[in-house]
Amino acid sequence: MNALHARYPFLSAAREAVREADVDVAAVVSREGDRHPAVERAVERVRRALMDGTVRPPEDGRRWGTSAELLSYPVARLLVSLLDAPGAVDKYARAEADTAYDTFTYDFDHQDDRTRETISLDALLADFDLGDDVERRRESYAVAVGTYLSLAADLPAYEWRLASRRLADGRVTVSEAELHELLREAVERRVASDLPLDVPEELAAGLAAEVDELESSFTDADFSHDIDTLAPSLFPPCMQALVERARGDDRLPSHSWFSLVAFLTGIGLDADDVLSFCEVDSPSLADRLRYRVERLADDGSAQYAPPSCATMAAYGDCVEKDGRCETITHPMAYYEDALAESGDVTDWRER
Ligand code: SF4
Repeated sequence: MNALHARYPFLSAAREAVREADVDVAAVVSREGDRHPAVERAVERVRRALMDGTVRPPEDGRRWGTSAELLSYPVARLLVSLLDAPGAVDKYARAEADTAYDTFTYDFDHQDDRTRETISLDALLADFDLGDDVERRRESYAVAVGTYLSLAADLPAYEWRLASRRLADGRVTVSEAELHELLREAVERRVASDLPLDVPEELAAGLAAEVDELESSFTDADFSHDIDTLAPSLFPPCMQALVERARGDDRLPSHSWFSLVAFLTGIGLDADDVLSFCEVDSPSLADRLRYRVERLADDGSAQYAPPSCATMAAYGDCVEKDGRCETITHPMAYYEDALAESGDVTDWRER
């Protein structure tokens, strides 16, 4: 097991490393006394995926060794299969893919870094059996049309439909950034494949406490999830700032869009409301946001909530904190408290 396996636990080589280590997963999940580090990390992996849209280690500074990181992946797959939480598998797979995307794009840009083991584009393509399907051209890539159609199937139609692409000799031209998007899709599919697992009784019993802990952390989140009033003046400072940036010329990074759209979806806005409220006039951005809202808006449960204050702070999106911020740990809780305190408010959509 090495650091690369821990960073990319879905790779064939990582799965092989787990197999070769001959770890008894049943013994890991049912260890008496202190939780096995792999189980502790798996709980955080799933919690972060469902609450914060990432599987990075938590913000409290806890870190795990290579083998716990790697083993936490198969344990997390068991946990997410056992959860009674709508959409958990999709959200978990997306979070794994988004985190992998950040990691492999960083690695591709740092191939000469001798202090870190990195994965190359060729190695990643080979692991997904895409080596022959992707050809490097001078400033772009040519992807076999069947592979392109398969990987782009869930991406926003406006940008990815075949009719708006250059197609020659059975290959579709994509930019480097677009190839990375397709790889993100490939990772998401691999992570989601076979989920939810049919978890054997013995493993389910060993993870019962962890499943309870995760489910209660969603249902005990400190806001009610049934907010349906749009009162922008009562938004927490972080969301007010993101709205202002979204409406201006600022290009919001994808994690900031995720936070803002999850917040707006969480207070009952549909895709049209989000686009109108954020004053989105670019068709391609509108398409991407509509796609994101549809993924987020399956229901109003906590696993679709925007990131917590700790995660917002880690992303640099917690700004201009005020007195109410000191009393809550989640932007939704801030908004719920502000609404309760203000009494009757006029919904922005009824102006
Ligand atoms: S403390 Fe929380 S609610 Fe307040 S600005 Fe920061 S992230 Fe937003």
